Amino acid sequence: MASSILEALEIIAKKIPTVDKEIIPIEMSVGRIITEDYVAIFDLPRFNNSAMDGYAVKVADAGGKVSSTEVIYAGDNPSMTLEEKHAIKIMTGAPIPQGCEAVVPIENVSMQNDTLTLPSDIKHNGFIRMAGEDIKKGTMFLKKGEEINAYSIACLASQGMTHVTVTRIIKVAIFGTGDELRPHFEKIEDHQLYNSNSPMFLTRSQQLGCDVRFIRTSADTIEALESSIRSTLDADIIITSGGVSVGDKDFTKKAFTNLGMQVLIDKIDIKPGRPTIVGSINNTVIINLPGNPLASMVNYELFIRAIIRKMSGSKNHRHGVITTTMKNDFSVRGGKYAVVLGSYNGENFEALTSQMPGMVSPMKKADGLLLITPEIKMLSAGKTVRMIPIKWEHARDEEVTLFTD
Ligand code: AMP
Ligand code: MG
Repeated sequence: MASSILEALEIIAKKIPTVDKEIIPIEMSVGRIITEDYVAIFDLPRFNNSAMDGYAVKVADAGGKVSSTEVIYAGDNPSMTLEEKHAIKIMTGAPIPQGCEAVVPIENVSMQNDTLTLPSDIKHNGFIRMAGEDIKKGTMFLKKGEEINAYSIACLASQGMTHVTVTRIIKVAIFGTGDELRPHFEKIEDHQLYNSNSPMFLTRSQQLGCDVRFIRTSADTIEALESSIRSTLDADIIITSGGVSVGDKDFTKKAFTNLGMQVLIDKIDIKPGRPTIVGSINNTVIINLPGNPLASMVNYELFIRAIIRKMSGSKNHRHGVITTTMKNDFSVRGGKYAVVLGSYNGENFEALTSQMPGMVSPMKKADGLLLITPEIKMLSAGKTVRMIPIKWEHARDEEVTLFTD
């Protein structure tokens, strides 16, 4: 029986396993998912230091004249003690000396010979960066399941951490099915067709951080399909397209079942892309998408993207939405749980005028998609809609309402 879109996403959220982990240098870790919490092993900053180029002073000297002969630079380890009626010149990042109660920025003092006139309003601890005010020793600064970016790497480096534990890269294997298909780098006859789905899944999966392998397109026989499947079973995910409908030569499901596939999702109540199958053989997750390019793309973005996120250990494995408004009226056939692809300009959503399941050209124009219920027949200009982005990741850790009502 077909699963609803939300049931299929819930099965993915619950049943898809996470790959194991590895330790890598932090410089190599952008885009990877960390597998444990990281806790600060010391205060950041480690010591009280000056936030400005200025003078270390006593609050009691505010508005008065003080003498200044010494300087503390960043990197110094000062041993002097600041006394009243004195100031010590200090640079940004330099340790605060004993006895210093505040720093006065250089532009707020007037200087004559070695004598300074201080401003009258000096606040206690003013312009001092206190130890631990950024990251306190013992606090968690990165959480298990977070995706690492340049800024989390800055946090790791600031703690002197050289390596990080992350989930390993997901191995994806891809093959198309269909006697009519030829690779895009060969000459074809008029009755033949280039396989556009496999290069699409290959590059999209690479973009999502996977290590991807494409093997030859399989012919439409059980034997050829089984042979293709056998050569991909070492992957974490196998993605196929075609041969999942009710045609005489649609043997994809049969071939996978012959080799032991346990079916998790058998058809999804979605237009386009109903014949989609998700299953597993041992630890390998299998996704059979329909052959129609746009149908397979929609199902890739909705389901395979969620599978990859879940398998990567990301805590943000659920789709997020952007609430926006329709730019123009758009009528839909209604009666089905359906997807509407469109472009998004930061202000509103413009449905693609032509988006038939067998098309290739609309895909690249789609910034996002709407999920709509069977009752919806018209999306009027100005109507509030929920868009699941395609061109960028906006994944969340909690469930949000995905359908436009
Ligand atoms: P199927 O699901 O095998 O019945 O295929 C449905 C339609 O999608 C047919 O018109 C196929 O020729 C086409 N198709 C199947 N696989 C691909 C592919 N890899 N690239 C482009 N078109 C495809
Ligand atoms: Mg086919």
